[in-house]
Amino acid sequence: MTTDLDTAELCAPFVIQGRLFTLRNDSRVGTYDYFDSGALVVSDQGRILYVGPSVPAEYSHYRVKKTQHLIFPGFVDAHVHYPQLPVIASYGASLLEWLDKYTFPEEAKYSQRPYAERRARQFLELMLQRGVTSAAVFSTIHQEAFDALLGAASCSGFNLVSGVTAMNRGAPDDVLVDVGLFREINAKAIESGLCVERFRYAMTPRFALSCTEEMLQYCGQLLESNPRLLMQTHINETEDEVLATSNLFPHATDYLDVYDAFGLLTGRSLFAHGIYTTESEYERWAKSGASVIHCPTSNTFLGSGLFDASGYISRDINIGMGSDVGGGVSLNPFVTMSEAYKVAKLGGQVLDPLQLIYWHTLGGAKAINQGDFIGSLEPGKWADFCLIDITSDDLGFEVWERSCSVEEKLFGLMFLLPDSTNKVVETYASGISRWQDASCLESA
Ligand SMILES: [Zn+2]
Repeated sequence: MTTDLDTAELCAPFVIQGRLFTLRNDSRVGTYDYFDSGALVVSDQGRILYVGPSVPAEYSHYRVKKTQHLIFPGFVDAHVHYPQLPVIASYGASLLEWLDKYTFPEEAKYSQRPYAERRARQFLELMLQRGVTSAAVFSTIHQEAFDALLGAASCSGFNLVSGVTAMNRGAPDDVLVDVGLFREINAKAIESGLCVERFRYAMTPRFALSCTEEMLQYCGQLLESNPRLLMQTHINETEDEVLATSNLFPHATDYLDVYDAFGLLTGRSLFAHGIYTTESEYERWAKSGASVIHCPTSNTFLGSGLFDASGYISRDINIGMGSDVGGGVSLNPFVTMSEAYKVAKLGGQVLDPLQLIYWHTLGGAKAINQGDFIGSLEPGKWADFCLIDITSDDLGFEVWERSCSVEEKLFGLMFLLPDSTNKVVETYASGISRWQDASCLESA
């Protein structure tokens, strides 16, 4: 992985030419550009200058890199836990058991800075290997864990949203922090993120069950007082969790009301899961402008339930997509998108492949309030993209060639890529190659 961000300022502008796909950032989900031999022009500041079918004369003197791979926007993973990477694929538990048995013991280790640093670097490298260039990431209660992740992200050019996890009840002592200490750590963390260009701080109450009213109140007050802050949490993931929440907050009308009562339901809020959402919650959700983050591999792995996309789509609620590792079982966006298709199908819905790609790119970008900067390949945005090898696997390429429409080609890729030799071979973040598969080096 390239680790020297200082090279960003020294990077020469360039053109990359090849098959190119991107959605467009407008109100219609299915608007896209596809060119069999397109051109993407990248400035020396890592921004996109031009996307189109050929190189305009004004950029003809730029260095040109031709690629046989598909140029694709960097993915946005809008809900993932970096300290849960080591407990991925843990056997046989439902959400609340899984947290107690596997997750909390692992998270306790992140008070040790060297351990956290090693895991943060590993996590971001795996994300870049899969074409993910932005993510909203849960850390732990520990300052060491947050600092390690922020440091690793700024070194790798990764576009990060994160925050120290707020959590002061409902778990072992070594993963809890009292409100006083949390305020201190949180303030330091916000301060340390100010000098990192591709970073936004998110207030991160783990979920209502793990926070007292005092903790939720503090998170809400800070969110209201600072318009740069985002907020990420979980909601309506399992029936047991919904029931436990209503017992713990007897005055709330529903789960969303708990968050709303403390000022956490805003247009800068990301709620993961939202499986057991009620009619009244949908209505209130839509008015707030908050996003829902669909995490399909986690839904099916933990057996939590099936996300009902139509409930959100029909109310124009923005949907992003998350791997939710370690409840989810893969950081690979193609696995997540194909699982979302299957979850919808089991609920009687057929999702357009462009819709799935939208959720994992522009939908995620909008969820983290960065729709104007990332999520598609358009002039002015960051040059965050990956190169996908679509030719090395015979069957996969045959399906690509035989498919008549771009939608069918992408649909085939979604299902076949995870199980083929076709894969992401290089990832650029802010115009710089941050990861490259050594076995697939191409000449410039
Ligand atoms: Zn989660």
